[in-house]
Amino acid sequence: MHHHTPTAAHAARPRRIVDLTHTLDEDFPLWPGDPLFRMRRIREAPEFLVHELCFGEHTGTHVDAPLHCVPGGDAVDRIRVDDLLAPLVLVDIADRTASDPDALATPADLAAWESLHGRIPDGALVALITRPARGRPDGKVNPEAPAQPHDDAEVHALTRSLTPDAAGIAHWPGFSREAAEFLVQRRAVVAIGTDAPSIDCGASTAFPAHHAVLGAGRYAVEMLAALRALPPAGATAVVAPLKHRGGSGGPARVLALLD
Ligand SMILES: [Zn+2]
Repeated sequence: MHHHTPTAAHAARPRRIVDLTHTLDEDFPLWPGDPLFRMRRIREAPEFLVHELCFGEHTGTHVDAPLHCVPGGDAVDRIRVDDLLAPLVLVDIADRTASDPDALATPADLAAWESLHGRIPDGALVALITRPARGRPDGKVNPEAPAQPHDDAEVHALTRSLTPDAAGIAHWPGFSREAAEFLVQRRAVVAIGTDAPSIDCGASTAFPAHHAVLGAGRYAVEMLAALRALPPAGATAVVAPLKHRGGSGGPARVLALLD
């Protein structure tokens, strides 16, 4: 081979890699009722450090497998590896969420993305950016918020989102039923995702996006980090959930590759 000819190995190396994964620890915000994340040092192994981990499947940046809400659907260990590498489409609705924390991404938002960037690619992961860069859903700094163990505005925002209002309702934006159905029926996405706690909005009780997407055998990725570090089109996502047999989902390491 001529030494100037790029090899497959050279071509495969992305120019930049962005970690879209929150760091898990015992202070990371949880869905109400989910088990605590716990990490305990195993003292019986003096020569090598080992921790025992306990956590719910839907903790931190994580995947929802079809089985999460579809009886008989694919478990997390059955998601095809071909579907875990996906063109990443980012739909930014943060300009609406300041005035409407229950905002929903609509087919019009998807059409607007396509008018700028072309048709949503087959096999894409379509993820929502729901928060302005400042971190809080309304874009304001909350002086009453307790000091966060993470110096991380995104984790702060997740904590705020997961804290219900006086009526017991939590607020964050999500996909509308129509947008989720469009993506699986009229486009061939492998997954939808969000930087919020869930692909359905916080006030949802019917979870139409979950039913549309998981019901179509696709998966979801929730609590994504650092989406603002990426362009709206052109990145490739690598989604690597824990592979435990029969799981309804699992914490995932999610990376974005940029050429
Ligand atoms: Zn989940």
